[in-house]
Amino acid sequence: MQLEFKDKLFINGKWIETEKKIVVNNPATNQVIAYVAHAEANQVIQAIDAAETALIKWRKVLAKTKANLIMEWCHLMLKHQNEIARLITLECGKPLKEALAEVIYAASFVQWAAEQAKRIDGVIISGHLDDVENKVHYEPVGIVGAITPWNFPAAMVTRKIAPAIAAGCTIVLKPAELTPLTAYYLADLASKAGIMPGVINLVTGDAPQIGRILGEDARVRKITFTGSTKVGKTLFAGSANSLKRMSLELGGNAPFIVFEDANLEEALAGLIASKMRNCGQTCICPNRIYVHKQVYTKFAAMLKDELAKMKVGNGLDADVVVGPLINQAAKVKVKMHINDAMTKGAQLYFGGSDLAGNFMQPTILINVAPNSQVAYEETFGPLFALFQFESDEEVLSLANASEYGLAAYFYTQNYKRINKMRNDIEAGMIGINSVYLSTDVVPFGGVKSSGFGREGSQLGIYEFLNTKYSLYKY
Ligand code: ADP
Repeated sequence: MQLEFKDKLFINGKWIETEKKIVVNNPATNQVIAYVAHAEANQVIQAIDAAETALIKWRKVLAKTKANLIMEWCHLMLKHQNEIARLITLECGKPLKEALAEVIYAASFVQWAAEQAKRIDGVIISGHLDDVENKVHYEPVGIVGAITPWNFPAAMVTRKIAPAIAAGCTIVLKPAELTPLTAYYLADLASKAGIMPGVINLVTGDAPQIGRILGEDARVRKITFTGSTKVGKTLFAGSANSLKRMSLELGGNAPFIVFEDANLEEALAGLIASKMRNCGQTCICPNRIYVHKQVYTKFAAMLKDELAKMKVGNGLDADVVVGPLINQAAKVKVKMHINDAMTKGAQLYFGGSDLAGNFMQPTILINVAPNSQVAYEETFGPLFALFQFESDEEVLSLANASEYGLAAYFYTQNYKRINKMRNDIEAGMIGINSVYLSTDVVPFGGVKSSGFGREGSQLGIYEFLNTKYSLYKY
């Protein structure tokens, strides 16, 4: 398949060349696949200018017209799903089948936003005085600055752009420099769908500089970011002066709890599906696996049998189910977590082999001590750290002993326990006997150092709307 790379900045509906370039590598081969534009500061400002001009028109476009244009973007994504999936695998490494699933998932946010664009309705509230009417309606927040990570090169882009433009906002998005090709391809499809110039602008370059410009420019009224807690805090601080609305979807360290009454086959399937997606490089994947003492040995053995069947390799090969890590730094971090846990008493139960390049064998550690790094830091790799517990109180307190609170999972058949855990675990999202938390129709987001704001669902649209109240006396 001949792939067309979109490698220039996308500003005001035009492709803009730059002198400086960013090198994009294929993490499976470490070969250069493209040289993508590197914006200068004035080009980032041009993108904001374009969004400012477009906002005047776009916010007034009939809701139904907006919906139709966004829906056409969704259709084009589905039409080009194979090309997009290939780009994702090339720049991010995940197996082609997973990349294709990501395209469908990414398109679902576009479809949902298109449908919802027609349903941004206000309310009339009963008068609190004689002869008055209270009206509450919603308006676009204005220009949005968006920054996305590399682990879902399509879905994180559409999950931000689609609801923002459905709400009537215009946007300047900076995709991750590691995986910009998918984002630019999607911007091209949006343009082909007829979404007017300046509504969607994309820039890549010096990430801290772009973040600073978006944060400091008072015309940008909202920042939406997915990435590390450290960068999220920088963007929060950098936006304080102009008091922007913020949505921060940051790091996680999800607990995954297997109680003694769990259906172990289901727990195992859920654990592998969630943990091995994108080779463990997702913010909601289990990082701390707590297994009840009674089923600990059995569950570990079941997990080992399943992992042994998983083929690691280049995501373009048909039978590969585990792709590479994104780069060497990612691999170093996983190895550091393994070494640290082993120094503190954990035993290597499966895997641990250092494969060539950015590849890494899925690894199981057993009897991991609670003070291990993996217990309080996101690993972002294929490490299964198995902790043991004996009581509900103990595991609840272990689950909550984290600065993060994005996702949490537990498997049990006991309804009282379900209720207690659901209420008392500190996380924005909880999977009970299932791990499939993220779709277009539900609110995705965290608490504590995992950030705030929600993406997906009706709440995801309201992140891009201001509430306006007016009192009218007849
Ligand atoms: P990760 O560790 O998952 O790569 P990062 O938070 O470093 O997470 O990256 C997420 C996104 O944030 C990427 O698009 C990256 O380029 C961008 N980024 C990194 N540093 C900054 C910064 N100082 N300001 C703005 N964006 C940044």
